[in-house]
Amino acid sequence: MSKLKVSYISYPLTLKHTFHLAHGKRNSTPCVLLKIEYANLISYGEASLPPYLKENPGSVIAYFESIDWNVFNESAPLDFLDYLNKQEKINYPGMAAIDMAIFDLAGKLSNTPCHEILNVESKITPLLSYTITYEEDESILLEKINDAKEFKQLKLKLGTKHDKHFIDFILKNTDKPFFADANQGWKSLHEAVYMCEFLRERKCLFIEQPFSKKAYQLSYKLKQRNILPVFADESITNFSDLNKYYFCFDGVNIKLMKCGGIKNAIKMISFARKSNLKIMMGCMTETSCGIAAASQIAPLCDFADLDGSHLISNNPFKEVILNDGRIILQKKSGVGIERTRIPTP
Ligand code: MG
Repeated sequence: MSKLKVSYISYPLTLKHTFHLAHGKRNSTPCVLLKIEYANLISYGEASLPPYLKENPGSVIAYFESIDWNVFNESAPLDFLDYLNKQEKINYPGMAAIDMAIFDLAGKLSNTPCHEILNVESKITPLLSYTITYEEDESILLEKINDAKEFKQLKLKLGTKHDKHFIDFILKNTDKPFFADANQGWKSLHEAVYMCEFLRERKCLFIEQPFSKKAYQLSYKLKQRNILPVFADESITNFSDLNKYYFCFDGVNIKLMKCGGIKNAIKMISFARKSNLKIMMGCMTETSCGIAAASQIAPLCDFADLDGSHLISNNPFKEVILNDGRIILQKKSGVGIERTRIPTP
């Protein structure tokens, strides 16, 4: 029986435009790419590591090195994910990278698309949203609006002192539906109520992560005001957070990098459904490897914020296929991605 051959490399992602957020700005996102070879098949995974996750490339690589890859069994490939979840050492982005590569491999071994293995019936993903962050220079903002032309919905990242001007400038130049992400930027209920009313007047769909991640009480109070639906991002990273704090929100942004991959995301989706939460499948700035993996379960969600690979300039994989603002799930076995260029780990 052959063995898994595993290799990985740190591969920082370069952002097309500087990200201006409530807690600073950045031009790149650390990332570790994982390659698994087995029986002449190659599968990929990635761990994208924006600063708010506590992991970094070193900790992800140390996590990969702690894994007993010999546990993998071709006759039950997905059992490897149970092994991961039982380990004492938890590293969610590292787990996500392994989870997506193992799902890809399981699909390739059985010649089945990943969404079919998962019994995802609909092949239609929700409309994708495209993220626009603030720029002082209005010509760059216009460029960003133009970059979004294939997308039918926008996500506006707030958190600078120019929020109102930014929102109105975008809405003057496009009539696409939008939602807003405050990225933990609002400090008080008063400020949040004022901004939510401002946004509601402009037909904003919902507000994501208004307060700092531990400010559950404030989120609960804002939700009770019923101005706009309140979604959690940083406040709910994994199943345990969801289980404890779901009642503070109207919706949740589930990301593979936060929760440890497809298997754990499905568990969160079913809990969120039972709790009457709206569900967004989200992403970090990441390559189309992570996006293709997340898109396998996106039809189970209400919103798909899966534009991460469109925000970087060094995607080493072929881009996912968009049609009319949605990702088209492929009939290819596994997750359905192909590399274009990738440094040899
Ligand atoms: Mg967010």
